Amino acid sequence: WEDIYREDPQVADAIRAEYDRQSDHIELIASENWVSPAVMSAMGSVLTNKYAEGYPGHRYYGGCQNVDVVEQLAIDRARELFGAEYVNVQPHSGAQANMAVEMAVLKPGDTLMGMALDQGGHLTHGSAVNFSGLYFHVVPYGVNEDGLIDYGEVLRIAKECRPKMIIAGASAYSRAIDFQKFREIADQVGAILMVDMAHIAGLVAAGLHQNPVPYAHVVTSTTHKTLRGPRGGLILATEDFAKEYKLNRYVFPGVQGGPLMHVIAAKAVCFREALDPSFKVYMKQVAKNARALAEGLKKRGLSIVSGGTDNHLMLLDLTPFQETGKNVEQWLDQAHITANKNTIPNDPQSPFTTSGVRLGTPAATSRGLREEDFDQLAEAIAIIVRDKEAGIPRARAIVDSLTKKYPLSAAF
Ligand code: PLP
Repeated sequence: WEDIYREDPQVADAIRAEYDRQSDHIELIASENWVSPAVMSAMGSVLTNKYAEGYPGHRYYGGCQNVDVVEQLAIDRARELFGAEYVNVQPHSGAQANMAVEMAVLKPGDTLMGMALDQGGHLTHGSAVNFSGLYFHVVPYGVNEDGLIDYGEVLRIAKECRPKMIIAGASAYSRAIDFQKFREIADQVGAILMVDMAHIAGLVAAGLHQNPVPYAHVVTSTTHKTLRGPRGGLILATEDFAKEYKLNRYVFPGVQGGPLMHVIAAKAVCFREALDPSFKVYMKQVAKNARALAEGLKKRGLSIVSGGTDNHLMLLDLTPFQETGKNVEQWLDQAHITANKNTIPNDPQSPFTTSGVRLGTPAATSRGLREEDFDQLAEAIAIIVRDKEAGIPRARAIVDSLTKKYPLSAAF
């Protein structure tokens, strides 16, 4: 901090203000988390100074002996964590991991089947405004009226459009995904199955969600959501698949230049932490807290898409209250709860307004909150949904008691 203040007080002030915001708000954005001091330090290390195009042992730059050790550690640990033969830790983000794999498997115009963005999928699974929708012929699938993936319907669509690739995985789906069923569907139509486990990677690492690695041809992930690492991407596959589709080459030089070695060091630290038994305890608490939040909301008369959660997140359906996600997001923010508006399946509102709010437990669980605290948060959220702006002071009082009970400085 002092270094930044000396050099650049404007940036230092903004960082300080962000620290304060994170301290006095409760973070319920499902894709965010708090990393450990060790992960944070690795990202702020001298490795940020190093160019290392290529892969361990095969670089285009000199002086790579130490970063080779770091990248190999990250690869070996991810291999152990997820039981994968091939690992690529270089994607700068989840979107770039997906881009590399999609470019490797598909040619422009090929058919790609992914979950629609407005049904819970991610931009990179075929959205019209993303490269995936611009370059490939996209046939989306969604959820049924209960908010669940209907595997029979996925098979029907796949038989009709004969995709070259099917993507399983989502950004806003609160139920377990059956990767074995997805693989059976892919095999029936001769498609490659890519699983994007970005959201649930921590649950998978902890053995609390079916691991996609034995079922998918290729798996992508981010490292910064439930996995609690630095912002970044990851690709897993069998050695044979990686060779046949030249995955290394599609990451570099295909869609990226030099790897971010400081981030790869932080990924290595994150994987080590995730291999420790304490990570399983953390992830179990994340899942228990999600159930407590969902139950707390339901018993207060609020509605959750699909009726509940099997993982770390849920989608609050505001249509019974004729309220928008945009308004609720703003009022929650004023009550010091951070969450994001989100479309619900078949949303009558636009993506900028929405009828839903996505809520997740990983970050607040890292801070130390437990089931009884999430029941309190359910009360605060219910106050906002029912009483709108008028409920802000009462909701804020609940949140203030929680931020005092769990000071950020004590957690990290
Ligand atoms: N895949 C899924 C399922 C996601 O939810 C996200 C991000 O929210 C991504 C990929 C993209 O990750 P990034 O933001 O690192 O590009």
